[in-house]
Amino acid sequence: MILVINAGSSSMKFQLYKVTNNNYEVICKGLAERINIDGIFTIKFNGQEFQTNEDLSDHSATAKVLIAKLKEHKIIQDFSDIQGIGHRIVHGGEKFTQSTVITDEVFAEIKRMVTLAPLHNPPAIAAIEAFRRIVSVPNVAVFDTSFHTTIPEENYLYSVPYEWYTEHQVRRYGFHGISYRYITKRLREVLQKPAANLNAIICHLGNGASVCAVKNGKSFNTSMGLTPLEGLIMGTRSGDIDPSIHQFIASQTGASLDDITNTLNKKSGLLGISGVSSDLRDVFKSSKDNSRSQLALTMSAKRIAKYIVDYANDLGTKLDAVVFTAGIGENSSEMRQLVINEVKLLNLELSTQANQSSYENEILISTPHASYPVYAMRTNEEVMICEDTYHLINK
Ligand code: ADP
Repeated sequence: MILVINAGSSSMKFQLYKVTNNNYEVICKGLAERINIDGIFTIKFNGQEFQTNEDLSDHSATAKVLIAKLKEHKIIQDFSDIQGIGHRIVHGGEKFTQSTVITDEVFAEIKRMVTLAPLHNPPAIAAIEAFRRIVSVPNVAVFDTSFHTTIPEENYLYSVPYEWYTEHQVRRYGFHGISYRYITKRLREVLQKPAANLNAIICHLGNGASVCAVKNGKSFNTSMGLTPLEGLIMGTRSGDIDPSIHQFIASQTGASLDDITNTLNKKSGLLGISGVSSDLRDVFKSSKDNSRSQLALTMSAKRIAKYIVDYANDLGTKLDAVVFTAGIGENSSEMRQLVINEVKLLNLELSTQANQSSYENEILISTPHASYPVYAMRTNEEVMICEDTYHLINK
């Protein structure tokens, strides 16, 4: 069995996999929410659901509760049933070009990376620390940035003094790489193409959202940058803005750099424009009689379309497919249609019927007249983490 952990600032998701002959089966999963607030841990196993509000005061306490509950509900007999633990880590910098077993040196390096990702890496570090302390099985780090380490210099550098890169590592890193890797793998199977020939534009549209240009099976460009703030208009993040807005708002309101960065991360995007919600479903619902919600939808769709056209220009006529994935991309036929309506330079005509159909893993949603096929495809970051963990500890 392999345990996959995805730690957020106040949450910890887990999936427990049983691995047999290259088959990865989820046997139990769960979510600890509101850690250090009024924590509640929900565990699903064998069609049953258990909940507990035992001590979830931090990630360490939550890890202890998870281990105890797995035993208590006889999901595992002993912790030795679990061969390894895979952790999702947002930022791996330039150093981690692939997943790796967490040795003391690796862990020290991941901790040093906190300067690059002060908002995103600490929860994973807390979780790794906890599991390393409680149980003695290998821990594996799987990074959101690794897939993007193939991006060429012309796409990862910013037009700032070069020393900002050499001395402070200021560059585009990109995120959602675990999802992009999964979709690229799945797309190869669907299109029956070798990786070396695969060219695609993948739109990972969740609360956090980004677009990736995959050229010859590798990441060639992506919309998120040094941090996950750049690029698309997201649930609460602004995406691309004029960098001078920081200074201007500071001078107008007296807000600190930290306050403004926090506002750009947590109070902007769909929430900031609509004033209603960061959740796309609420924004759609309210858009009938709220012009700001309508505006938020139009602006989001136009921003996604802008990146699709930009990346199509990079990939040229070799483009094999455009893919929509993650919470919004997988589920919102309305958003997919709005985006495609805004892509005016490519003929990506959607079939209304296919776009609105339910599906299991993926569905072709473009018409036969479209210049390039468009898919909605379900991502699965957890299974990628599980596969990497399994392979690294059985090397
Ligand atoms: P993250 O993992 O980044 O937190 P998700 O991938 O879960 O985000 O996506 C969350 C977004 O997906 C929310 O904006 C939510 O409204 C949207 N979403 C989820 N399900 C649906 C649905 N059935 N229809 C429309 N939007 C949906």
